[in-house]
Amino acid sequence: MTKLAFLGAVGTVTGSKYLLNTGKRRILVDCGLYQGFKQLRLRNWATLPLDINSLDAVVLTHAHIDHAGYLPLLMRHGFKGPVYCTRATRDLCGIMLPDAGHLEERAAEDANRHHYSKHDPALPLFTEEDARKALRQFRALDFAEELALGDGAKVTFRYAGHILGAAMAEIERQDRRILFSGDLGRPNDPIMRPPEVIEWADYLVVESTYGNRKHPRSDAQDVLAEIINTTAHKGGSVVVPSFTVGRAQLLLYHLYHLKMAKRIPDLPIFLDSPMAMDAGEVFRSHPKDHRLTVSEARAVCAVAKQTPTIEESKEIDRNRVPSVIVSASGMATGGRVLHHLRAFAPDPRSSILFTGFQAGGTRGAAMVAGAQSVRIFGEDIPVRARVANLEMLSAHADADEILNWLRHFDRAPRQTFITHGEPEAADALRKRIERELRWSCTVPAYRDEAELEL
Ligand SMILES: [Zn+2]
Repeated sequence: MTKLAFLGAVGTVTGSKYLLNTGKRRILVDCGLYQGFKQLRLRNWATLPLDINSLDAVVLTHAHIDHAGYLPLLMRHGFKGPVYCTRATRDLCGIMLPDAGHLEERAAEDANRHHYSKHDPALPLFTEEDARKALRQFRALDFAEELALGDGAKVTFRYAGHILGAAMAEIERQDRRILFSGDLGRPNDPIMRPPEVIEWADYLVVESTYGNRKHPRSDAQDVLAEIINTTAHKGGSVVVPSFTVGRAQLLLYHLYHLKMAKRIPDLPIFLDSPMAMDAGEVFRSHPKDHRLTVSEARAVCAVAKQTPTIEESKEIDRNRVPSVIVSASGMATGGRVLHHLRAFAPDPRSSILFTGFQAGGTRGAAMVAGAQSVRIFGEDIPVRARVANLEMLSAHADADEILNWLRHFDRAPRQTFITHGEPEAADALRKRIERELRWSCTVPAYRDEAELEL
């Protein structure tokens, strides 16, 4: 009897970790950090509820920190085995994990310098060096390539369309199959191809980030044009806290088309995120994994002025000419965008444009909900700028899109586990799958364990 334990992304969208135990092999699917609410983030510091020495391998669906960000800690706590993922995921982790370690170190330094942490001294969760060491254990596969995991189990990555390299993990054993959807992309993304059609699985673990919502059908370019034109007309700037991989490239794609069609003024566009710049490179080196041609990818990247140095980044805030500033992180939990928010959030002429899901407890969620002020670097910063969220740019399928993807199954899984959603979202998706597809579903709780005939 194989067991599946839910060690993260239950009741929340972060901290993805599922432990599959065949009796002889222990495989961790995803190894993400918790983000957002403090009570969840504290779990990043607690002992992991599994025996790291008995763990054989990690299977990684994609490079986002809430799926891969715990890996440097797993290695620091003694994990010596392989991490299997797609080639683009390996390359993106090569950028994102060291950057996350670097941000951790910077945040701890800042907290110590300005004494705004309750911990003395404040410590980073992991360092850039930890992340670089962890990367040595990565083993990349192609999509559709089959790899033996031992004890009769094998894994194959299927195209998920969520971000570059993002995969569903299909694990088979004794002619039975469990499918982990990972984060599921959209059917009509201009850059990513649609999620691969899957016809069957005995067990399904499916995400539910937008399980209770429908993305606006309004056109992203129309909304962007309206906000940019109105803001520039007032003499303000548009600050875009963006996820660095995927969203930043998608934004540049839309901005490029708006500029070409002269639907927005010829104002400066900055890509102020070294990581998004590097991610653009990874896009160009994996042309088969997305829809853009090499020349399109080059033209899209060229629409923005890149500002790699801190000095150039600070210059943007000093200059104050109407501009569009695309910077990270996407939920304003850290990164250079915090400086731009401190500069522009108090300015009623400016706009802050979020670009997708804002996890509860983040500055992004607070601002989208209409917070009058946010705390940045230990200071309360008033929010007088217009705040909007372009949810149509989301990299996650909405409830209808998830259901449509599930309708390709030619039979019901024995059990469907609904994860990676806040409680209302997971429950709403459960109800819809039960009602519309008549499948048997559960919404697991933290540390629940299911027995699988696999
Ligand atoms: Zn993701």
